Amino acid sequence: MAIRRLSVQEYIDGILAGDRVVLSRAITLVESRLEADRLAANQVLHAILPHTGRAKRIGITGVPGVGKSTFIESFGSYITQQKGLKLAVLAIDPSSQRTKGSIMGDKTRMESLSHDPKAYIRPSPSGDSLGGITRKTRETMLLCEAAGFDIILIETVGVGQSETAVRSMTDFFLLLMLAGAGDNLQGMKRGIMEMADALTITKADGSNVQKALNAKIEYENAIHLFPLPPSGWATPVSTCSSMTQEGIPELWQLTEKYFDFATQKGWLQKQRQEQNKEWLHETIKQTLLDRFYENPTIKQALAVCENAVENGQQDAVSAAYELLNKF
Ligand code: GDP
Repeated sequence: MAIRRLSVQEYIDGILAGDRVVLSRAITLVESRLEADRLAANQVLHAILPHTGRAKRIGITGVPGVGKSTFIESFGSYITQQKGLKLAVLAIDPSSQRTKGSIMGDKTRMESLSHDPKAYIRPSPSGDSLGGITRKTRETMLLCEAAGFDIILIETVGVGQSETAVRSMTDFFLLLMLAGAGDNLQGMKRGIMEMADALTITKADGSNVQKALNAKIEYENAIHLFPLPPSGWATPVSTCSSMTQEGIPELWQLTEKYFDFATQKGWLQKQRQEQNKEWLHETIKQTLLDRFYENPTIKQALAVCENAVENGQQDAVSAAYELLNKF
């Protein structure tokens, strides 16, 4: 049986009432590439926007295997069960081509959270560009906020540009690190460390405890050499274990301390204002790209130009300008 289309008003009312079925359908609407859906999604977003902004937005990153999903399961359950807060978990993972099948895979990754009535898990939207995925995740975050979630956790893999994307939509950015992973401060990792509001060494249990404590000191020393970030918050380093829960309550306290600090300093609001400006520019860029590549004249001419460039009959730059001038 076909599912009846919801009207824009039904989406809005359902989201504001915290109806999860409607929320999930609204997220699917936001993720849709169809023009009609896009228009409806924009109307829904416009209407719910005044009901957003109250949640704490937390980004979590770390290399594959560092223990992100296990950590989210543990930290998330602490938030819902000990603190009684409603939690939404979203993901930005441009590397995965997730299908409906692997949504189930994701649910089993976070077994207890997926059965937790106070938690809502939504895997990474599929997409062919990071920009597209970022847009959808940001809009999903707003829908979740309007539906009454107190905490939004956005997870991303610690490779590529997706950290910057998550950083640009969250208030607090947590970097998970492994003890003894070698070459600690090289290249990209240093860049990510500079973006982080807190670092935690994972898997600090059993025979790994001492190694984790050593790594903590090493990272603390390294961070001392960085300039203080514009927030004025000095990045703390901790250790934790998602298996034993050691360090998990402390990490939550630290998160709360950060939010108090950033709110009092006016940093939280300032950062969100900056993020909104970035959002504006990203939306313009993404929409221009979409409109360009979906334009029928361009589609046709692009195929011809691609061929000409491939065969060496035309250079890439002049082909690009020729296409742009047709737009
Ligand atoms: P992700 O790829 O970053 O999401 O990492 P996972 O959460 O899938 O964890 C990778 C592996 O590390 C799994 O085998 C986990 O069981 C293990 N792991 C995660 N957290 C801990 C922990 O706190 N202690 C120990 N000993 N192992 C952990």
